[in-house]
Amino acid sequence: MIQIPLVAPFDGWLCALEEVPDPVFAGRLLGDGLAIDPLGDTLHAPAAGEVVAVHEAGHAVTLRLAPGVDVLMHVGLDTVRLGGQGFAPLVSVGAQVAAGDPLLRVDLALVGGRVKSLVTPIIVTESAGLVFEPRAAAGPVRVGDALGVLVGAAQAGEATAAFSPTAQRVLRVPLAHGLHARPCARLAQVLRGFAAQVRVARGDEQASLASPSAMLRLAVRHGDTITLLASGGQAEEALDALADLIASGMGEGAPLPEETPEVIAEQPSVLPLEPGDVLSGVTAAPGLAVGQAWRLARAEPEILVQAGGIASEQARLDAALAALRQQMDGEASQGTPAQQAILAAHLGFLEDPELIAATHARIASGLSAGISWRQELQAQAAALRAQSDPRFAERADDLLDLELRLQWQLAGQEPPAQEAPENAILIAEDLLPSQVAALDASRVVGIAMARGGPTSHVAIIAASRGIPALVALGERLLTLAAGEALVLDAGGERLEIAPGTPRLEQARAEKAGRAARRAAALASAHQEARMADGERIEVFANLGSLGDASKAVAQGAEGCGLLRTEFLFLNRATAPSEAEQAEDYAAIAKALEGRPLIVRLLDIGGDKPAPYLPIAPEENPALGLRGIRVALARRDILLAQLRAILRAVPSGDLRIMAPMIARVDELQAVRTALQAEAEAMGTAMPPLGVMVETPAAAVMADALAAQCDFLSIGTNDLTQYTLAMDRGNPAVAGGIDGLDPAVLRLIGQTCAGAARHGKWVGVCGGLASDLLAVPILIGLGVSELSAAPAMVPEVKALVRVLTLEACKALAAEVCAVSSAKEVRALVGGLLMRVQHETAIEGAGQ
Ligand code: PEP
Ligand code: MG
Repeated sequence: MIQIPLVAPFDGWLCALEEVPDPVFAGRLLGDGLAIDPLGDTLHAPAAGEVVAVHEAGHAVTLRLAPGVDVLMHVGLDTVRLGGQGFAPLVSVGAQVAAGDPLLRVDLALVGGRVKSLVTPIIVTESAGLVFEPRAAAGPVRVGDALGVLVGAAQAGEATAAFSPTAQRVLRVPLAHGLHARPCARLAQVLRGFAAQVRVARGDEQASLASPSAMLRLAVRHGDTITLLASGGQAEEALDALADLIASGMGEGAPLPEETPEVIAEQPSVLPLEPGDVLSGVTAAPGLAVGQAWRLARAEPEILVQAGGIASEQARLDAALAALRQQMDGEASQGTPAQQAILAAHLGFLEDPELIAATHARIASGLSAGISWRQELQAQAAALRAQSDPRFAERADDLLDLELRLQWQLAGQEPPAQEAPENAILIAEDLLPSQVAALDASRVVGIAMARGGPTSHVAIIAASRGIPALVALGERLLTLAAGEALVLDAGGERLEIAPGTPRLEQARAEKAGRAARRAAALASAHQEARMADGERIEVFANLGSLGDASKAVAQGAEGCGLLRTEFLFLNRATAPSEAEQAEDYAAIAKALEGRPLIVRLLDIGGDKPAPYLPIAPEENPALGLRGIRVALARRDILLAQLRAILRAVPSGDLRIMAPMIARVDELQAVRTALQAEAEAMGTAMPPLGVMVETPAAAVMADALAAQCDFLSIGTNDLTQYTLAMDRGNPAVAGGIDGLDPAVLRLIGQTCAGAARHGKWVGVCGGLASDLLAVPILIGLGVSELSAAPAMVPEVKALVRVLTLEACKALAAEVCAVSSAKEVRALVGGLLMRVQHETAIEGAGQ
């Protein structure tokens, strides 16, 4: 016999479900339960369980108390209409909660003023055969008071009957608030009138329409495209009735948003591009390309919907997986190191026993191999996309890539070859890694994407193949006609549309000049970088893995100016041990062969979540617990990292720096911890630096410099926080510019503050890899530049032709103008003069 006690989730007035002024709840269409008219502003858990649904409008939370036992708390009536106003969920799906834990905060005044009732039904939507026995009388209750008990015999989970759909309807959901609790209850009620089972599929996930609770977890929204799948004697009739009912809007219809057309060429609502237009994007792979617009046609094999029996579908899947693995092994043996790394990650997915078992389970429920694989991969991709860190979201493309590749294997066909014209610049909404890997780089000279992110695998492959690429160019890109002449300046973050013959000629000449300069820079990459008037600038490299270290040394890096230690901490279930960390740091130090190594302490949290750091959901992760704030809150992690670093890196090479410092006391806390660990281990205290990534740190640089050994400016974050533009948000990607005078003035202020205490300043953010920024940074007082490994030769070569005097004059000029555009024009002028003089000198020798 099972007994699950339920306690009151709200302070308020308890009443019977019949008293709820809504026939769906009062008629128990969603299940049995009680209701509370709340007086307190926080909804608590009525029992221990797992959060399985939080409605996007924040007004409803579902807890799973035991397998097959779900309880829905629906705050107020018609509250879905508020679209989230007045509700602040305190938990997210997947959280484990204890009875009494807070789940949701409600602004009672705001919500109460806008809806007809705040009364909150507490409904057992799935009972697994348990019966709800109320144990409290109507009247006042406090959070934690006993409400009732779910009792019954332990029921083995119902075996899911094999489901072999014989009919289907695809439709878009016109209900303004999607399929929320009441429409789900009504649809389930209608379905009971037919001899049919119906499941609702939304791309990647499925739920039984008979279970409002499962439907709520599916979270179907306004405008979503869903497929109703039915089996049973009245499958067709049931689908006709249900599809008609949904299409009618069920009294909540609203105009449907435009659907993204399959063929990206047909985008009617955006202003078409015209000759002379320029689109701004974000650099994904540097370089300059001159060529013509070209599109890949999306090709997809036919996917068998009708399953041919469980055993034969599972065998088809296994055979296709084996064939794809073999094909990818072959590709890996011929690919570049970056392609090999990505293919290894893809092979890992193909060998993932959980992924394969989950797909087999879908086949066992009656679906075909192709549909099962598609649903499983799309579900996994959706889970990745839901992560706030764009780097996780970008990995979703890898799964979708594999999804399609396996469909071709299942169909026993090759995707059609698509021949690019000469000098093609590939235009796409989004691309898959395999599509970029398969491009013919002798014909495709550039890539321009409407969407995408600069840290995706697409970006990495494009860079490794030397194809300049811009992402986040926006929907207007898709209005381009094939064959249009283009200049893609990835470094300048510009795509120029039909700019006219003189500009095309100039860009071609510039491209040839760049190629020659790059070759020359590489030839002298191992010489030191001393300015034309003698000033020494250290050119280091940023590293994110052991592989980067040897690459950086080969490119002439004089050390590592930023080791992003997060690479060890992300994508795993537990924090790496001290020994594991020490091993990795030691390997990197060894690869640097005695060159200085600046290890950045863990920069995690906020938008770089780690599952073993339970940080509550934050409204503004970039302004929340991240960087040094996490390390100071989790001293166990900080101390283990400090010990690992001190143990692994020879003391002469080692420098340590702390990320996201905003206050002097944070630096003091790190120094105290480091000193204590160094003393305990009997090692020398290494130089300790501060990363200047917040405007506060820049403004307080003198106070920080008094207590640290060096400062290193993280221009990526400094730009985001100075301009108040999220660096991971494609909507503002075009506006984020580290050359904005506001950022440059703060860099100048940092250098001046450090100079007052005789401390050196480096730059380890993206500006150190931007050739336009280099003279300005040096002019502002920066003496160390830590660039992307591939950019080290060109940064060094540029430093050698500059003079400190010219850089200082330029820095003064750029700090006096009011836009990044003016800054670019000024520095462009200086670089042209320098190149001209160098060319004359070179010719005279
Ligand atoms: C920066 O913010 O510039 C920086 C170097 O740190 P990250 O890019 O790792 O946040
Ligand atoms: Mg940073």
